[in-house]
Amino acid sequence: MTAALPVSVTPHPGESIESWLEHLADANGLTTAQLLGATGRGRAGNRYRTLAPSPETITRLADLARVDERDVYAATLAAFDGTALDLTGLDPADRHSYRQVAARGWAPAHGTQICPACLADDDAWRSAWRLLIVTTCTQHQSLLVARCPSCRRPFRDQRHSHLRRVGAATVCGNPLGAGPTKQCQHNLTTIPTTPAQGRSRPSETRRYRPCRTGGCRPRTGR
Ligand SMILES: [Zn+2]
Ligand SMILES: [Zn+2]
Repeated sequence: MTAALPVSVTPHPGESIESWLEHLADANGLTTAQLLGATGRGRAGNRYRTLAPSPETITRLADLARVDERDVYAATLAAFDGTALDLTGLDPADRHSYRQVAARGWAPAHGTQICPACLADDDAWRSAWRLLIVTTCTQHQSLLVARCPSCRRPFRDQRHSHLRRVGAATVCGNPLGAGPTKQCQHNLTTIPTTPAQGRSRPSETRRYRPCRTGGCRPRTGR
């Protein structure tokens, strides 16, 4: 049983687990490093926290934040397993299994895209932004942004922790240089966005509708 934190924070619908944990740390006056210490950083069960955390990790985080385990599970990428993702073969106890899963190409090993307008609305980073098949924000009808204009790297491009040292602040926060103390301070909510193009023409949608049996040919007419 994990001791609960004084301030409970519930993940937003669609919010990523990293974003939620950064908000949880801020709300309780903790640095993200202190929060990770409280969650038992380094245990095998935490290794794939953002992908498919072990049931024990889910329970521990839910106890810590005093939220429903289902809300924690929904914030992990495992919530997409079987739909947008195929996590078959991922084993939290085997550090080599992530590479096999990542090799299928559904998400970058490090980093994520963002919608600046979403971050301006509620400070919550969405799980779906990590999926390479997702290129637009349906809420704001704009293209996701893949790189920070200042440090020119993907967002959340950090190797040693899932959580940013800047906590939930809506700045980039990528580590700069070799030292641990400097982070990119670009304000993410001010990054200009590009409107998403309209949908493909209806005729194309009809003619190239995917089929399940393989061997599809372009449809003619309806
Ligand atoms: Zn958006
Ligand atoms: Zn940056």
